[in-house]
Amino acid sequence: MQTQAQDVLTGALWTAKKVDSTYVLSIKDRSGIKEALIDFITQNHISAGSITGIGAVNEATLRFFNPATKKYVDKTFKQQMEIANLTGNISTKDGKPYLHVHITLGSSSYNAYAGHLLDAKIRGAGEFYIYPLDATIARKFSEEAGLNFYDFEAESQKPKAKSKRQKVED
Ligand code: FE
Repeated sequence: MQTQAQDVLTGALWTAKKVDSTYVLSIKDRSGIKEALIDFITQNHISAGSITGIGAVNEATLRFFNPATKKYVDKTFKQQMEIANLTGNISTKDGKPYLHVHITLGSSSYNAYAGHLLDAKIRGAGEFYIYPLDATIARKFSEEAGLNFYDFEAESQKPKAKSKRQKVED
């Protein structure tokens, strides 16, 4: 079987292969998941989509949002853990890439820790699928909730759709 070299992508913290519109992404051992994902989506100009992943980490900081105080409580776990599941989405805020990622981590005693992923360090494999959407999905901070909600009416989402239509008409 022939390897299609043009579909293999490399970054400092990851390697990836594009299959149809999906990317299969390997984050390198000892790399930070958030840093690697942000680098990957920036390099590949992905501004919307979803992420799934499995693998293992030896350090993770999870956060829990308290709606009453509108504040996050962070907790760091330093031990070898399996990524039982990682689910996230890609959007933009103020024109910059924005990741919203949740993770479930399994410990050596088979207990699970779960929460919003602030960051984690791969120790072993880091296997991810990225499903891009050909769109821009923006977010805006809600003072009322204390969260960055989706903002489907954002002006920043309109130029991309318009320029694409123009291209077809030209
Ligand atoms: Fe969250």
